[in-house]
Amino acid sequence: MTPRLVGLLGGTFDPIHIGHLKAARAALDVLGLSEVLLIPAHHPPHRDTEPVASPYHRFAMVALAVSETPGLVASDLDMGTAGPSYTSTTLRRLHSLGLSALQIFFITGLDAFAEIATWKDYPGLFDLSHFVVVDRPEVDALSPEAFAGRFPALAHRVWPLGNAPGVEGAIRRPVPDLANAEHPWVFRLAADTPNVSSTEIRRRLSAGDRIDGLVPEAVARHIARHGLYQAAE
Ligand code: ATP
Ligand code: MG
Repeated sequence: MTPRLVGLLGGTFDPIHIGHLKAARAALDVLGLSEVLLIPAHHPPHRDTEPVASPYHRFAMVALAVSETPGLVASDLDMGTAGPSYTSTTLRRLHSLGLSALQIFFITGLDAFAEIATWKDYPGLFDLSHFVVVDRPEVDALSPEAFAGRFPALAHRVWPLGNAPGVEGAIRRPVPDLANAEHPWVFRLAADTPNVSSTEIRRRLSAGDRIDGLVPEAVARHIARHGLYQAAE
């Protein structure tokens, strides 16, 4: 029987947008995952400012965004936890629920991954799950050599996937035999995600500009109905 392979996309999701959804879908499809859990952080660490919307609104928007997409699931795993929402804590919680490190794929954009040396439990983190690093349009894509150079300790574990522009010369290897992997991998996924950020969406909303096409319609309706991200009076 094929084991359950679970992707996780953690984030602030303030608000969720089409870039998050495309990254999650790319990982789901390319790696053949059973599902991807989108996990809003109750207290995101590593941020200079607090999220603008409450954890409840951020979770609601994630749930609305995935409601019609098979394979994507809103997860409340990090909701209601006291203290910062650390990735290593989330991964260990999934282990205690019965998933092995080789069944979990933690997805991040390249911007978030670039900061990983500052994350709690680095570099032990890399033994807790696979990582899937998705290119981000506003972040210069790294060639496989440059990536290995930036993360030398991981060089032997990096597996390039996908064929978007910007990864010239990438050796495109098929997905490894995940059922018999000897250790977790760091997959570099060259997916063509849209150039969208939550920061830009919040900026537009507070300036009274439109956000058409940047978030699913149900999310746009939620934002409008609750007056989220409007400029303070
Ligand atoms: P903010 O501007 O507030 O930081 P954001 O758009 O970066 O918001 P986050 O909630 O910080 O969204 O991101 C959660 C995860 O999704 C991170 O790993 C991030 O790199 C990834 N991500 C966000 N947008 C994209 C995108 N357009 N393409 C690929 N990955 C993305
Ligand atoms: Mg971000």
